[in-house]
Amino acid sequence: MIEMHDIWKTYADGTHALRGLSVRVNPSEFVYVVGPSGAGKSTFMKLIYREERPTKGSIFVNGFNLEKLKQRKIPYLRRNIGVVFQDFRLLPKLTIYENIAFAMEVIEAPKKIIKKRTLEVLELVNLKDKVNSLPTQLSGGEQQRIAIARAIVNNPSVIIADEPTGNLDPDTSWDIMKLMEEINFRGTTIIMATHNKEIVNTMRKRVLAIEHGHIVRDEIRGDYGYED
Ligand code: ADP
Repeated sequence: MIEMHDIWKTYADGTHALRGLSVRVNPSEFVYVVGPSGAGKSTFMKLIYREERPTKGSIFVNGFNLEKLKQRKIPYLRRNIGVVFQDFRLLPKLTIYENIAFAMEVIEAPKKIIKKRTLEVLELVNLKDKVNSLPTQLSGGEQQRIAIARAIVNNPSVIIADEPTGNLDPDTSWDIMKLMEEINFRGTTIIMATHNKEIVNTMRKRVLAIEHGHIVRDEIRGDYGYED
């Protein structure tokens, strides 16, 4: 479960990114985060995996109180959270296999288990035949499926996705959403920021709208609600 209470975030240059945001996300929920550029969506998501810290307010993620979390405990938080970005962020010099296995090596999983699980997630995203390819040899949609495989390889309870379809064409975006839905169906919480009106309005999940650093709308089966 994720809980934020009265979160304020002011960056070093004085920008107020979040201004008194409170929210609770239950296990296995699928949540879209919408709102204009600069509203605070990315900041909101970065707080969850401790990429940023709030200026004020409390955050609990899977029982961790992030205010009190020691630096050396951050890996324990992060192994429970998979992150997916708009620009994929695969390591260009590593093969597809190595990109995914690397996420398990950092948590010191045994070699045999790494191999088994890496091939398993490649199967899940339907790209087993690319195991020895380099990221540049894959299409954008394929690279994003690999990034998703990497995000789920350690069985996280939460996936944070910041505009994962932002660089993809509509058909490929739908493939990615099918995959996200399947991952959610297996019990993983998904929090996804998006500007894709069609996806939000078709999938009918919970929608959080953020404007000027706070939540202005929270609907159970919401719609996109903007014209762009
Ligand atoms: P969104 O994801 O909705 O576009 P962001 O969370 O990225 O919004 O940004 C919210 C506000 O904080 C914007 O005004 C943005 O310019 C600012 N901002 C984001 N990151 C930083 C940073 N590292 N330093 C200063 N300002 C930032």
